[in-house]
Amino acid sequence: MNISDLVKNQKAAFSQGILRTHEDRTRCLKLLRDLVSENEEALCNAVAQDFGKPYVEAFATEIYTLLHEIDFHLKHLAKWMKPESVSGSIAVFPSKSVIYNRPFGTVLVIGAWNYPIHLALMPVIGALSAGNTVILKPSELATHTSALLAKLTDHYFESRVFKVVEGAVDETRELLSQPFDKIFFTGSTRVGKIVMKAAAEQLIPVNLELGGKSPTIVHHDANLDVSAKRIWWGKTINAGQTCVAPDFVLIHESVKEQFIEKSKEVLNTFFKNDYVTGSNYCRIINEDHFDRLKGLLESSNVIFGGSTNRETLFIEPAIIDAKWDDPIMQEEIFGPLLPVLSYKNESEIVEQLTARPAPLALYLFTEKQELQHLILERVPFGGGCFNETVTHLGNPHLPFGGVGSSGMGSYHGKYSFETFTRKQGVLKKPIWPDPDLKYPPYDESKIKWLKKWLV
Ligand code: NAD
Repeated sequence: MNISDLVKNQKAAFSQGILRTHEDRTRCLKLLRDLVSENEEALCNAVAQDFGKPYVEAFATEIYTLLHEIDFHLKHLAKWMKPESVSGSIAVFPSKSVIYNRPFGTVLVIGAWNYPIHLALMPVIGALSAGNTVILKPSELATHTSALLAKLTDHYFESRVFKVVEGAVDETRELLSQPFDKIFFTGSTRVGKIVMKAAAEQLIPVNLELGGKSPTIVHHDANLDVSAKRIWWGKTINAGQTCVAPDFVLIHESVKEQFIEKSKEVLNTFFKNDYVTGSNYCRIINEDHFDRLKGLLESSNVIFGGSTNRETLFIEPAIIDAKWDDPIMQEEIFGPLLPVLSYKNESEIVEQLTARPAPLALYLFTEKQELQHLILERVPFGGGCFNETVTHLGNPHLPFGGVGSSGMGSYHGKYSFETFTRKQGVLKKPIWPDPDLKYPPYDESKIKWLKKWLV
């Protein structure tokens, strides 16, 4: 079936109320759960084929997160779907006011390659739970995963409810010309702009989950043993190809050298210089990204690690001594290279970070409440952690999304349901009483009464 017919079929199914009830949506969420859990091994193997992702990482970040999210939706969906009665006001007395949670209709989800199962299906959970039919376009760069998702979706779902369309730029362009009711995009800021422009042509609402340079601030009071471990864990999962990976470290000058020494110890403990088997550490997704990262390495002051092998698309984690105007500080790194910069005083942190685009994530290692407060109040960022990296994504009670050039809108848990739901406000009025006050002809006495009651 061509893309246009697919969208028409889904729209017809939506109009017929295919996902109207709690039972319909629960059935779909359970099907999605079966799709993921019954094919755990095949899915993890597909990601391993795409970029050598270790099974433990694939299970923890692609499979478990989805199952956890689906269970969260199954548990709370009935409550989320309920209409909400709200207060009236004197202007509409007597009446009842109700907010209904309505699905948008047929939605398009476009995924990125770096967590190719998670980023494809996580928004789909919210879309189905909110009662939308869904077309998913996974990233063509994770070839095996995209093909498997298409095959499994055909096996578990009717195409009028949920269908995968595979493809690259041409197919995405064609999809973007269709009359979707909502678009949810995960990917780069560059392509996010293309998606938003296309959506604007048809006034389609969008969610943009984009990237950026996520700073990791380490203050002089931080526990450096724990900080170094948590920072390098966040940097080396997926070989740094994580939208919320610590992009760079901004550390108090008095502890910079110590942090670098701790970092070397941590990397030696994590990987014992054994990157060959790929059982602990991913490969880079393709030659283009490998060459881009190699270029960044070559223009940087590498003080540890950073060996590479183009044939196996391997890049060893690297510690880089950096300055703000180095090439590596001008773009999102999206790889296992960690620039370390230093600051002298706290106002410098605010000054430097607010002079740059707002990041998707920010991490701050300190116990100092005043500094935590200062960063929260003065530096815009999508979300983040104190004394930890990356794991804010794992809590479905927290919204996840960017700000400014790192994105718009948020999802996960209830926020996913809300992202794919539009609020419909309805006022219900009894036939009686029906005073003449608001109807023409208007006269002096009416304005007097109106002022008396309303003002
Ligand atoms: P990308 O923007 O290159 O691709 C994302 C999607 O857009 C893919 O499905 C691709 O097929 C499509 N696409 C690519 N070029 C297109 C074009 N010209 N027109 C229409 N569609 C096009 O991103 P990527 O390389 O897959 O992912 C890496 C980026 O995504 C990084 O910037 C990263 O930070 C960001 N990211 C963000 C999140 C998040 O949740 N905020 C998660 C993962 C990745």
